[in-house]
Amino acid sequence: MSLEHVDAVVVGGGISGLVAARDLARAGHRTVLLEGRDAPGGSVRSHTVAGLVLDAGADSFATRSGTVAALLDDLGLHDQICTPSPTGAWVELTTGPHPLPRTGVLGLPAHPFSADVRGTIGLWGSVRASFDLVAPARVGADANTLGSLVQARMGRRVVDRLVRPVVGGIHAADPDTIALDAVAPHLAAALPGAHGSLARAVGTVSASAPAGSAVCGLDGGIHGLTDALVADLRAHAGEIRTRQRASAVHRTADGWRVDLVNGALVAEHLVLAAPVLTGLPGLSEVTLDQGAPVVLVTLVLDDPRLDAAPRGTGVLVAPGVEGVRAKALTHATAKWPWLARAAGPGRHVLRLSYGRGGEQTAALPEDHGQLVELAMADASHLLGLPLDAERLVAADVVRWTQALPRPSAAHRDAVAQVRAVAADLPGLTITGAWVAGTGLAAVVEDARGAAARVA
Ligand SMILES: Cc1cc2nc3c(=O)[nH]c(=O)nc-3n(C[C@H](O)[C@H](O)[C@H](O)COP(=O)(O)OP(=O)(O)OC[C@H]3O[C@@H](n4cnc5c(N)ncnc54)[C@H](O)[C@@H]3O)c2cc1C
Repeated sequence: MSLEHVDAVVVGGGISGLVAARDLARAGHRTVLLEGRDAPGGSVRSHTVAGLVLDAGADSFATRSGTVAALLDDLGLHDQICTPSPTGAWVELTTGPHPLPRTGVLGLPAHPFSADVRGTIGLWGSVRASFDLVAPARVGADANTLGSLVQARMGRRVVDRLVRPVVGGIHAADPDTIALDAVAPHLAAALPGAHGSLARAVGTVSASAPAGSAVCGLDGGIHGLTDALVADLRAHAGEIRTRQRASAVHRTADGWRVDLVNGALVAEHLVLAAPVLTGLPGLSEVTLDQGAPVVLVTLVLDDPRLDAAPRGTGVLVAPGVEGVRAKALTHATAKWPWLARAAGPGRHVLRLSYGRGGEQTAALPEDHGQLVELAMADASHLLGLPLDAERLVAADVVRWTQALPRPSAAHRDAVAQVRAVAADLPGLTITGAWVAGTGLAAVVEDARGAAARVA
């Protein structure tokens, strides 16, 4: 078998791999990016529904570190950065719909007694949550999950009414199965300085973020980031090879060999932007979280009643709400002014997502029509508006698997093991959501750091 030699191979063509490969190509390395699927982008790609080009996965990025905005500037996309409509989101509780308090990280309030928090968790809930501000640091110090930590410091209502819906919506996980330092390391790092108070730590993290919206998008959809990275990588002689799944990686005398179905590549530098552990020494016992399956159903409707955006930019659903199986609804045309303009008067895009931590998406109907029917019923319930099937213009279903690794303590420990092994292997760099955590802010920062270490 003849082996092809390049300077650097990047495995995984999601945003992490694209960012790392682009930086390496710009630094002059002959770089090949291997992507297992038929197109790069990973969770940041588009689909077309009723003629509208929509985000099929991620639709926004957290502005907290400024890293994603800096990358977008670099790619010439600065003018396309846009903020979501300020109407805010809602949370559907067993007691009905409530506006979601605005300031917060993972649903945790910085001001537990503010009017919007009281409105959602009630007077008693706010009194209990305020205990966090005066409780000694030892309260919750021995908690090993986010859920138990929040319960100890802020009480059950903050867990059930704020944190559980937000964590289910963003991470497809349950707070009782994830660890604070794995899901929000920046918040965990702020805790000691806040004397253990979650509310004060949230305040510190929020105050250090740039002024303005906590999340932003791109005019035309965040998948424009993928397109721009692909174009810039190619402009710097980087090569993208799709349908090329790496099955194993091996250390050789002078670099790395990446095994593919038909052949292998050899390079001095290997960047793993996807979890390929086969061939790495000492990791046969390591089990990384495989990620929760998530099903997204997008509905495009001609219904001017939705112009009023009855639930703002969307609804997060608490577990146990009867008659609803979705975990979240995004009213995309209410959230993104560019999309409302593109859709035209009276036309609306709703996106329902299914697959909360532990809940099997396999139990959902397989049949496209039945799934769309379920989404229509859930949207009617969540928007408080009976939607008419006759007004449905088009619908699409996107199924995500292995895209959202759940930040449990076990996953965090497995990642630490992988990092320790990788640190001792010259020429190997690991990056991506599987090690850096979910979210564009986390993965872009990590991938840029990874490429800088190589270059
Ligand atoms: C439905 C959904 C909505 C989201 N919404 C948001 C959001 O609004 N804001 C936000 O910040 N984040 C969001 N996220 C999370 C964010 O999109 C991801 O954390 C981020 O895009 C991960 O990028 P990545 O490159 O690390 O991984 P991925 O996007 O998972 O890419 C990994 C790539 O590697 C490829 N691959 C895997 N194994 C191999 C192999 N052996 N050989 C070759 N290729 C391989 C995969 O095919 C994939 O393309 C969302 C995620 C999902 C699934």
